[in-house]
Amino acid sequence: MTSSSLPRIALFATGGTIVSSGADALQMTGYRIGDFTVDALLSAVPQLAQVARIEAREIARIDSMSMTSQVWKDLGAAIAEAAADPDIAGIVVTHGTDTMEETAWFTHLTAKTEKPIVFTGAMRPATALAADGPLNLLNAVRIAADPAARGRGVLIALNDVILSARDAMKTNPTNVAAFSGLVQGPLGLVAGDAIVWLGRPERPFGLGTPFSVEQFSRPRRLPRVDILYSHADDDGVLVRAAVAARAEVIVHAGTGNGSIHEECEKALAEAAADNVFIIRASRVPGGCVTPGLAEWQERGYIPAGTLSPQKCRILAMLVLVQFGWSPEKMKEAFATF
Ligand code: ASP
Repeated sequence: MTSSSLPRIALFATGGTIVSSGADALQMTGYRIGDFTVDALLSAVPQLAQVARIEAREIARIDSMSMTSQVWKDLGAAIAEAAADPDIAGIVVTHGTDTMEETAWFTHLTAKTEKPIVFTGAMRPATALAADGPLNLLNAVRIAADPAARGRGVLIALNDVILSARDAMKTNPTNVAAFSGLVQGPLGLVAGDAIVWLGRPERPFGLGTPFSVEQFSRPRRLPRVDILYSHADDDGVLVRAAVAARAEVIVHAGTGNGSIHEECEKALAEAAADNVFIIRASRVPGGCVTPGLAEWQERGYIPAGTLSPQKCRILAMLVLVQFGWSPEKMKEAFATF
């Protein structure tokens, strides 16, 4: 292929370890993002020029533990522009791994395109011995350039594994195999230089949702949605604090099957009576939270199903922004997406 016949890929950089540097090749943890740019990352992978014509743009340069909904909006607008350009075949987003699953899930629900959107990052800084960023980036570009990746929603690809943004969760804080599919398992694998496709997301996304970045960008203040993590001696103090902070939704990361400590239950029942939505999620990664006790259902608590607490938070925000306070719409969204 001549270089002008290679697919054009838009690459949006947001920061993370993939553009971080340590003091030396053995520093693997305990660094902060510095002035290593996406251009430096691209020039470290000259093989990209054999795969695609890349147009890179920096949207942010932050450690992703400090991710904000403003970056989601800026990234969403950039993705919409690239999606509308008929000459762009696919989109790659480089992102810190800590909250990659959140930005990817937001994008999965809001991006109105069939074009491949592939998130990648790294667990080792760019300066590390056996840095994982360069190959992850090359593979993400290969995936985004593959016509068979179209219509599979937003993908998270690291360490040769391709996961749906709906299912992916960071489950290891240091290993290069940092992400797992919680329920569905991989949609594809990278095997050598081949991409092996295995599946598609079952639930609607992107063009199949009522949510959009434009709508999400409208309100001056986004609805407050708090996540509260349960434990022994959970006395409901944090539920009352969330209500005092005007939370419109509380995602309760309960024990087991979204279970609730009897002391915390009183505070949650009061919050629900005050029209705060209660989403019953679980601190257990994996599996499916069911509707549970009859009294929880009577109070309108909504089970998370197979969504992690952090993904419940994003879905609840999108529902509130799109429809306002509507128990029916909230319940329907959790059953559908
Ligand atoms: N601190 C990093 C982040 O921005 C971790 C990573 O990218 O792997 O999320």
